[in-house]
Amino acid sequence: NLDTRVDISSGDELGSLGKAINDLAFETNRYRSNRREFFANVSHELRTPISYLKGYSQVLKQGLYQTEQERLQYLNIIENETDRMVRLINDLFELSKMEEGKIELQMSNLNLAEVLETSFFKVKIEIEKKGLTLKGQIDNGVPDIEADGIRMEQIFTNLLANALRYTKKGSIHVDVWHEEDHVHVIIEDTGVGIPEGELPLIFERFHRVEKSRSRDLGGTGLGLAIVKNLVELQHGEISVSSQVGTGTRFELRFPVAGKEAT
Ligand code: ADP
Repeated sequence: NLDTRVDISSGDELGSLGKAINDLAFETNRYRSNRREFFANVSHELRTPISYLKGYSQVLKQGLYQTEQERLQYLNIIENETDRMVRLINDLFELSKMEEGKIELQMSNLNLAEVLETSFFKVKIEIEKKGLTLKGQIDNGVPDIEADGIRMEQIFTNLLANALRYTKKGSIHVDVWHEEDHVHVIIEDTGVGIPEGELPLIFERFHRVEKSRSRDLGGTGLGLAIVKNLVELQHGEISVSSQVGTGTRFELRFPVAGKEAT
């Protein structure tokens, strides 16, 4: 029970002081509980790959395999789990820097269509390998936004990688256009979709709709938390809509350079 507030009925200064103390106690408890949950998640996420590394290295050391193919399979598992652990640690480091406000953005005037081309290029081969099509409707005449090019690319690469990860067949569609003082980007897929009740939660650290699927596909559960932080640090907004079995659509909106709200 996080709520340890004391009942205060007086409406004078003492009453407001009491109320402030109550609110502070509640926030502190919530912070402690979030922290506890966060560390429990991190330990769990690290323990899983470590147990694979330990298990399979023992199997190899003791020669407990029948064929050369089996031996290579175990080595592959070790390599993949190591990669995932490195990604997890990098993501955690990123998030902690962001949350402490220690991330330095190199802001400049950017053309989002150009940034998207670079992110496209990074995932294109994987998308084609999986037999999916990548469609773009990118308006090259969109005005610049003021943002950090590398961080922007990270946002799109992350969203495209998710679209790829959670789509078995069909296409990934990217749309860029502008309307009044905002540039809009849509990244849409024809993948597994997200149940409605889960939609508000997917931007939270370690929240996954299906843990094992995300894990098997190499996810860390931190991608969208990082994306949301980065979008907001650059005065943008992100929203999601989805239908199970049909697909998912992420919509981003950034103010045109010089039109940011102060
Ligand atoms: P993960 O590393 O697990 O992909 P993310 O933070 O990137 O972590 O995403 C959180 C969860 O949101 C995923 O585990 C998945 O359940 C869901 N998700 C994200 N993007 C998509 C998508 N394009 N289609 C379906 N589900 C998605």
